[in-house]
Amino acid sequence: MTDEKVVAYIKKCLDAGRMAEAIDTSKVTGAPLSKEELNGYIRKYLENGWMQKAIDGARAAGIELSKDVLSGYVNKYLEKEKIYSAVDASRIIGMPLPKEKIAIIGKECLRKGKITSALEAYKIIKEKPPEEELIICGNICFKNGLLSDGLEAYKLANKTPPEDELVICGNMCFNIGQITPGLEAYKLANKTPAKEILRICGEACLLEKRTDDARKAFVAAQKVEEMNNSKTIQVREISLEELKNSKIDISSKGFGQKVCSDCGNRTGIKERYFEVSRCPETKEDEEELDKLMKIQHGIENFIVELDVLGNGRGLINSSICGNCGSKDVVLISGDAMEYIEIKAGKK
Ligand SMILES: [Zn+2]
Repeated sequence: MTDEKVVAYIKKCLDAGRMAEAIDTSKVTGAPLSKEELNGYIRKYLENGWMQKAIDGARAAGIELSKDVLSGYVNKYLEKEKIYSAVDASRIIGMPLPKEKIAIIGKECLRKGKITSALEAYKIIKEKPPEEELIICGNICFKNGLLSDGLEAYKLANKTPPEDELVICGNMCFNIGQITPGLEAYKLANKTPAKEILRICGEACLLEKRTDDARKAFVAAQKVEEMNNSKTIQVREISLEELKNSKIDISSKGFGQKVCSDCGNRTGIKERYFEVSRCPETKEDEEELDKLMKIQHGIENFIVELDVLGNGRGLINSSICGNCGSKDVVLISGDAMEYIEIKAGKK
């Protein structure tokens, strides 16, 4: 080996934490290796969290490493939330980790959205992270566009992530060119992203020369545009069961107790629900929807709630009195503003 190669080899050993090998090489070849240099590397190993490599290296170099110095680093790892390094180092030097401190660190990690480190900390102290802290953590992850971390936090909290948080996450993903988690987040929220933000995502992917992702983003933008331009209205009957299983909170959407205007009956009201692909905007649209409802479902009297099913889809409700057969059934709470009546239907 030439001198240059020897020096390069020694440096490589030192960088990788193989100090004994570097020292041997230096001895055999006569290449210089100063104690200061070795000392510097040992500090570097310790900073990196490589406790064992530092101890082995110091032994090979004949440098003393006091227990105080080492335990000082264990505390340093904890402060820097390097949980793995702290655990490893504490095991090596036989120093038990302070439980209260780890509990605090676990909580701090959750507050920073560092779910993996947090879970590691809680695992060490054999405790479960508190539910509310997990949700805070999940929301921070979502804000940072880290969908899978956020989902994990919510899953551990046994909660379903709210639509709004998922949309925030989706938008962040798109802004940083993460098309796949972005689309996934929107899908989970049962929402459609705006075509503009999908294009922004595509541009971000192009900048990083990720052409497949860019294509995916632009195709998604195209689809949204086509969907928005689609003129046909489609209606599909959905069961109450399906409605309940969807993320729509039907209790808050005016689906309360109903009463027949004609006979005052409050029980046995027959209700049917339909999903409408987009909300009618023009008189022609309304006529088209009336026709569809009558021909396909035999319903002449119904109400539409706009844009409640996501993706611009509306919800149709048709109620018939089980007592007198009247179609003039209204909500007891009478919050008529919640509804847009398309057709009065009064005879
Ligand atoms: Zn009635």
